[in-house]
Amino acid sequence: MDFKENIRVVADFPEAGIRFKDITTLLKDGKRFHQAIDALTKPFKGQGIELVVGPEARGFVIGAPVAYALEAGFVPVRKPGKLPAETLKHEYNLEYGKDSLEIHKDAIIPGQKVLIVDDLLATGGTVQATIAMVEALGGVVVGLVFLIELSYLEGRKNLTNYNITSLLKY
Ligand code: 5GP
Repeated sequence: MDFKENIRVVADFPEAGIRFKDITTLLKDGKRFHQAIDALTKPFKGQGIELVVGPEARGFVIGAPVAYALEAGFVPVRKPGKLPAETLKHEYNLEYGKDSLEIHKDAIIPGQKVLIVDDLLATGGTVQATIAMVEALGGVVVGLVFLIELSYLEGRKNLTNYNITSLLKY
């Protein structure tokens, strides 16, 4: 089951020099999409995961079916100004400039077992911001799950305390 065949690598997107991993070619293949979600959820069946937290937008697409398969709830993490109720905000540094993400303050009951799911791990900035918010709300991060890991960017280096699962590595 090499899911790499289902990922389209697009050169120079969104800017020159970047080889973007396009997951839409996997998503449109119903059987392969199903197999990918099965493979991602298998290690966590019966582990008592209560919530899946996914950052927008591709973290929704992968995270929601993972939550469904685990009979867990789904909590969205969004760009500022998108969530309607009271939020917790986390600002983080990018290579150039800053970015921030938000989560609803009442999204997690302290002690709940959380799986963080996104399509891709690159530098790890997005998942680190997500972890910070989940933990600030008292959630227990049981694992970090990605369809794709860009190993050469060494995002794992800053996540040594966490259990990381990725289906394919570049
Ligand atoms: P990081 O914060 O780890 O540097 O970047 C990961 C985030 O950027 C993820 O939310 C992911 O959706 C997005 N991302 C960065 N590069 C790519 C890519 O090549 N393909 C896809 N599908 N997403 C990417």
